[in-house]
Amino acid sequence: MYTLGIDIGSTTSKCAILDDGAELVGYSLEIGGLGTDGPATAIAKLWESCGLTASDIARTTVTGYGRMKFEGADDEASELTCHALGGRYVYPQLRTVIDIGGQDAKVISLSEDGRMSNFVMNDKCAAGTGRFLDVMANILKMDVNDFGACAAASTEEVSISSTCTVFAESEVISQLANGVKREDLVAGICNSVAVRVAALARRAGVKELVCMSGGVAKNEAVRRALEKSLEVDIAFDPRAQYFGAIGAALYSYNKLMKQKR
Ligand code: ADP
Repeated sequence: MYTLGIDIGSTTSKCAILDDGAELVGYSLEIGGLGTDGPATAIAKLWESCGLTASDIARTTVTGYGRMKFEGADDEASELTCHALGGRYVYPQLRTVIDIGGQDAKVISLSEDGRMSNFVMNDKCAAGTGRFLDVMANILKMDVNDFGACAAASTEEVSISSTCTVFAESEVISQLANGVKREDLVAGICNSVAVRVAALARRAGVKELVCMSGGVAKNEAVRRALEKSLEVDIAFDPRAQYFGAIGAALYSYNKLMKQKR
């Protein structure tokens, strides 16, 4: 029995299919979230990659920033619920999820039995989210995907003192004009995001096992800086950006199981 999870974010759309709530049979991603053709394209890509069609799906859950506007799912579930479920699917011992997406960041605490016990989020300020990194990549004329490798070459990390994205943008422009090396700036930019998210995490409470979810999990420099700031190991799975979609597919499966009982 296949269930589908769709996570419509602010910048990307992700889909995942689970078989009997266990095997991940397919997943897909398309740039473009709410208000774009991203969700439809991500779904089309999914059918193509796993050879299934809509008629094979027993139940669908939509989550994410764009979930309210999506028609065609049986259920909708909050991002908090889905990231917690998706994280726990990959790490059964999970107690803390640090989710950094394109426009917000959330820290979710789980009890031993996997229930959400607390959360703290920042959806008001771009600093401490993927948006900050995307803006900086644009100034530096870089691809944000290369930030991790670039920061790893830093020898003298530059501290970004501005707490506001707009001011930080000017700060980076003037540092560049002063001849500061790109890798040192990128290391400072990634650290600045990590410091903000670490403050959120401390408010939520950090218990191990800790993992990251969301697209920024792929940025190794942010991950390492978070580990340093929080003094914990942070688990990383290459499917971290899909945790919301995986959790949504699991949510559908759990609903079906409840109905059967
Ligand atoms: P949303 O769900 O809000 O659309 P995502 O969780 O998909 O957000 O994350 C999008 C963010 O992830 C982008 O803003 C970008 O900064 C970051 N990102 C995506 N892929 C990568 C990558 N390969 N390396 C570094 N950062 C990435």
